[in-house]
Amino acid sequence: MKIEHIGIVGAGTMGSGIAQLTTLGKFVTTIYDPDPVAREGGEMRFGEDLSRGVERERWNEEEAEAAIDRLATARSLDDLATCDLVIEAAPEDLELKRKLFASLAGVCGPEAILATNTSSLSVTAIATGVPNPERVVGMHFFNPPPLMKLVEIVAGAESNSAALDATTEVGIRIGRTPIRAKDSAGFIANRLARPYGLEALRMLGQGIAKPETIDRTCRLGGGFRMGPFELIDLIGLDVNLSVARSFYAQGGQPERWRPSPIQEEMVAADRLGRKIGHGFYEYGGHVVDDPDPDLEIAAPTLDPGELLKIAPSAESILPRMIAQITNEVAFALEERIGTPVDMNTAMRLGFNWPLGPLEFAELIGVGRALALLESLREEHGEAYAPAPLLRAAAEGGTSLPEALG
Ligand code: NAD
Repeated sequence: MKIEHIGIVGAGTMGSGIAQLTTLGKFVTTIYDPDPVAREGGEMRFGEDLSRGVERERWNEEEAEAAIDRLATARSLDDLATCDLVIEAAPEDLELKRKLFASLAGVCGPEAILATNTSSLSVTAIATGVPNPERVVGMHFFNPPPLMKLVEIVAGAESNSAALDATTEVGIRIGRTPIRAKDSAGFIANRLARPYGLEALRMLGQGIAKPETIDRTCRLGGGFRMGPFELIDLIGLDVNLSVARSFYAQGGQPERWRPSPIQEEMVAADRLGRKIGHGFYEYGGHVVDDPDPDLEIAAPTLDPGELLKIAPSAESILPRMIAQITNEVAFALEERIGTPVDMNTAMRLGFNWPLGPLEFAELIGVGRALALLESLREEHGEAYAPAPLLRAAAEGGTSLPEALG
């Protein structure tokens, strides 16, 4: 199906960023938002971001002007009638999105593809009010859309291959890297990122190390851009906790996804992170700095000598984190939520990880990951229960994808 005219529903953070991508990708774009203040704000951000891109030589003035000319702002959903694809970026509320999709089905032509940018809701559930739900898919962008290269193309239970292929092609044309994901809790990237925060919180709770040490170990030894506690402070502990609760409920309450009591207590005590100046760190003008800016470590590494340069506890911290990353990707492979290649791409592009989770699995080795998880399970319980696929790979002497068959 040929896509020429794209509609965007919701002119907030994501909608206005996606509009920048589609217009620069030479698609005629109409953006709708029921709130006049949001419409104006969206238009302003769109213009400012395009000018900033010219200053930074990401595109030239002519391209920015052409992008502006391709954008129209709509006051009514009816103005999306001629769109071949609509990307919805309205608030994360299932009832609101269901109603919106039912209305869009009435407004747009029967062939038009309807995509949702939801991060955590089921694409299949959003499509329930649409008479021909095979044209409903997920198109999950990352924040901020113009800078984050990843887009997850999510197949709902009814999505057909024409809709999945057409949205994949649009993703490529707007300069993103599309990957395919099954309609499952958090899709691929957000789901595979679960252990990064949760294992850090468990280590803190078990008294293994302070947040500063865990963060430094993950940055300096693991090669991650930010430590897990720095990241939770940035996201906001309240936001992070509600995401944790949603995963826990959607996943059928697996122990490894149980929200951390530390986080619950901190939210109750109003330590919400950077936005209010207190979280795991204090932010009032104080910059958390690295005490060893010259420490040279070829990260990511599990070499004990290298890790010892960071802190005495680093040698316990990083293997545990990587074992849990390996375990989560093993569960995800078993559930066939995506291909191994797409899982690596998801984490490198969606979270700027230095390696994909299957590359981390190779770094630690499935045998070592399994042995470590088993001993932690004995001490701390079911949060460390190994995925059957990890056991199969370790016992069969294969990689995780090979064990999947
Ligand atoms: P936002 O609050 O910045 O924007 C939402 C916009 O939707 C607002 O401008 C609001 O006026 C508008 N809106 C409200 N009711 C509407 C309706 N009935 N029809 C159309 N528009 C309506 O939110 P956001 O951060 O841009 O998130 C939008 C969607 O993208 C959510 O589903 C969210 O989960 C998802 N998402 C967000 C991020 C992120 O980091 N912000 C990342 C990926 C996906």
